[in-house]
Amino acid sequence: MSYDENNIFAKILRGEIPCDKVYEDEHALAFRDIAPQTPTHVLVVPKGPYVSSDDFAEKASDAEIAGFVRAVGKVARDLGLVAPGYRILANHGADAHQEVPHFHIHIFGGKDLGRMIKPADK
Ligand code: AMP
Repeated sequence: MSYDENNIFAKILRGEIPCDKVYEDEHALAFRDIAPQTPTHVLVVPKGPYVSSDDFAEKASDAEIAGFVRAVGKVARDLGLVAPGYRILANHGADAHQEVPHFHIHIFGGKDLGRMIKPADK
């Protein structure tokens, strides 16, 4: 899948659409999900044009990857999620119902999140 420069997170990164920002540095931007699924639901996106986790892993520089991973961890710490616990998740493609084709990590927290996958979902 080639990168779509008009996806909504690209527009947020260009400042064309507002977001509820929680963190930003050279490599990453973190903002609250517009339709939160848990009391805390934040998205962390790399600043470069990557569609998915595998695309990012293949094409991003070591500095971008390190910066992005460190940003995800910093956001989780800054949001006070380390002690109670949290979940990170990334969707790719149709089977995962990815809505926005710009790589992003969801950070979920603020409640007991239950098990990752229900046994019946296998
Ligand atoms: P995914 O299914 O992993 O692609 O998730 C995309 C997420 O982006 C969903 O949880 C949406 O609620 C969220 N989202 C879509 N548009 C915006 C926006 N403008 N600001 C913040 N979050 C958004």
